[in-house]
Amino acid sequence: MRQYTYGPFKSRRLGLSLGVDILPKNKLCTYNCVYCEIGPTNKVVSPKCRIKAPPSFNYSRELKDILKYVPHLDSITLGYNGEPTLNENLLDFYTITKNVRDLLKWDKKPPQITLFTNSSTLYSDEIRERVKYFDLVLAKLDSAVDVDFQKTNQPHQECPSLDVIINSLEKLKREMKPNKLAIQCLIYNSNRKDFISNNNNENINQLAYALKKINPDIIQIYSIARIPSEPFVFAIDEERKREIVKIIKKTINNDLIKIDYY
Ligand code: SF4
Repeated sequence: MRQYTYGPFKSRRLGLSLGVDILPKNKLCTYNCVYCEIGPTNKVVSPKCRIKAPPSFNYSRELKDILKYVPHLDSITLGYNGEPTLNENLLDFYTITKNVRDLLKWDKKPPQITLFTNSSTLYSDEIRERVKYFDLVLAKLDSAVDVDFQKTNQPHQECPSLDVIINSLEKLKREMKPNKLAIQCLIYNSNRKDFISNNNNENINQLAYALKKINPDIIQIYSIARIPSEPFVFAIDEERKREIVKIIKKTINNDLIKIDYY
């Protein structure tokens, strides 16, 4: 029976990806995003919350058992049931994953080891120190205007301000070289008149300035693709994604930053 892994499945952003969940089975997150695809967060936790959930001996065996059947895998991806950086044993998972990956034979280049994070804990030097080893970090930044941040991500009251989050992403980018930082911005619409979504021009413009400051390797603009936590939110269309990419491109004015949309 599998304890840690999901898939592999075809991911819009990562190619063929094996998911690894390093948190306890109940969702553990510092946010309660209106669009979350794994449902509402029952108890939103502080970014200071730490859990100790070290990998069991089974983790290495489970990985080896699966990976030998997928020599064409593109990514081993940590983070599916909330915010993985809350687990103090993140680096133990990374080390075992890397050791197993480096032992096996691959059809093309070995899969990258990827981490999802919602960015709320990255103000902590200790956490950035763990995160920087991953080949690719996919960090969330959906808003650069506080009112949109509060509505969209519904952060725990002890989550840092947007300024602190943006500064910590900028620091992480410098610290994790030559590994890659991708900033993921999920933009959505709302059909409730009293709920303006993050798809407003003020937010998109501020987001573009924040992205320029962070200077990531990759920017990913995407939208809702599965059933969201709240029924009143829905995906933006392809044309709007292209418009947003255009605005961001113009502001950052840096061809070294890859901008994708999904
Ligand atoms: S940060 Fe991720 S897991 Fe947490 S509520 Fe938002 S989308 Fe869901």
